[in-house]
Amino acid sequence: MSKPSRIKPALGKDNAWWWEQASQGVLAIQRCSSCKTLRHPPRPMCGACRSLEWDFVTASGKGRICSYTVLHHPQFPGYEYPLIIVLVDLEEGTRFTSQLVGCAPEDVDFDLPVEMVMHEDPDGFKLPVFKLAGAA
Ligand SMILES: [Zn+2]
Repeated sequence: MSKPSRIKPALGKDNAWWWEQASQGVLAIQRCSSCKTLRHPPRPMCGACRSLEWDFVTASGKGRICSYTVLHHPQFPGYEYPLIIVLVDLEEGTRFTSQLVGCAPEDVDFDLPVEMVMHEDPDGFKLPVFKLAGAA
């Protein structure tokens, strides 16, 4: 029997485009077409000007750890624990919640520079995660 895989996101009208970009290796950030405010996660309306028009920019994947937590429980199949979950201040100016990989829990800290790497599950599902900048 194959190992269970990561829990997949529910795809809808407002977020399917974002996961499609991720599947192509792109970390997309939604941008209001009217006032150019960036927002994540994707949603239909701009919180700044209420415009429903949007496009997106491709993030560099570079940022700094704004906050983090280390999860030990509850443990779901398909994940390696402990999980380091980070809130990243992307250099474009918006925030992104993700997983920090390749780092021991005792080595994570606030304000450390990180960069995005595209994780790929055995079934081909892609998910942007982060590693410490300069780490292998
Ligand atoms: Zn706007």
